Amino acid sequence: MNKRGVLTVISGFSGAGKGTLVKELVRKYDYKLSVSATTRQPREGECDGKDYFFLTTEKFESMIENGQFFEWAKYVGNYYGTPREFVEQQLNEGNDVILEIEIQGALKMKEQFPDILLLFITPPNAEELKNRLVRRNTEDMETITKRLKRAEEEAEFMDRYDYIDINDDLDECVQNTHTLIQNYKAKTSNCADFIREMQAQLKKLNQ
Ligand code: 5GP
Repeated sequence: MNKRGVLTVISGFSGAGKGTLVKELVRKYDYKLSVSATTRQPREGECDGKDYFFLTTEKFESMIENGQFFEWAKYVGNYYGTPREFVEQQLNEGNDVILEIEIQGALKMKEQFPDILLLFITPPNAEELKNRLVRRNTEDMETITKRLKRAEEEAEFMDRYDYIDINDDLDECVQNTHTLIQNYKAKTSNCADFIREMQAQLKKLNQ
C-alpha cells in the first residue's frame, strides 16, 4: 500500500515450474514481469524481447561495464542479468514487479534492497524435479545432469529465502504465491504512505 510497487524475487530449481507460475501470475493478477537479458541460445518458441533479451557476450559485458544491470550472474555457462530501467519505471508507476532469477542474483538483490520479498519455488521432492526436467524435453541429458547438480548446490541456500513455495498443483501454487505477495504488501513497513495519509486525514477530520 505504498505508492511505489513492491518487488518480489522468485527463484527455484530449474524445472520447478517457475516460468509457468510467473506467466499465470502476470495473466491473472497483472504483476509486471522483468524481462532478463541472457547470452544463452533461444529455445524453440522463445521470442527476443519477450522471454529474454538474447545478447552476445560482448554486448552483455559492455552492459555490465556501463552499470545497466541491477544484478547479473553466470548460470551453467551463460550470463543472465536484470536490466535496471524497466524495473525502476514499473515500481515508480506503482506496479508490483516480479523477477524470476536464480539464487546468486536473488541474494545480490536482497543485499541492495533488504525489503524485497524472496520466494523459493520447489517441486514436492527431488524425484519429481528430475521427472519434470526430463518431461520438458528442452535440454539434453548432459544439461539435465548439470542442472540437477546445480539444484543440489542451490538447496544449500533455500533457507536464505523468506518463504518456500511448493509447486505440486499449479493453480494452488499460483493462488498461494499471490497470497504471499499480498500479505507482504500489507506489512506495516510496506504501508508507510497509507499510514501517513490516514493520519493526515484524521487530523483534518477532527479539526
Ligand atoms: P533458463 O535458461 O532455464 O531460462 O534460466 C536459467 C536460470 O537463470 C533460471 O534459474 C532463471 O531463474 C535464471 N535467470 C533468468 N533471468 C535471470 C536474471 O536476470 N538474473 C539472474 N541472476 N538469473 C536469471
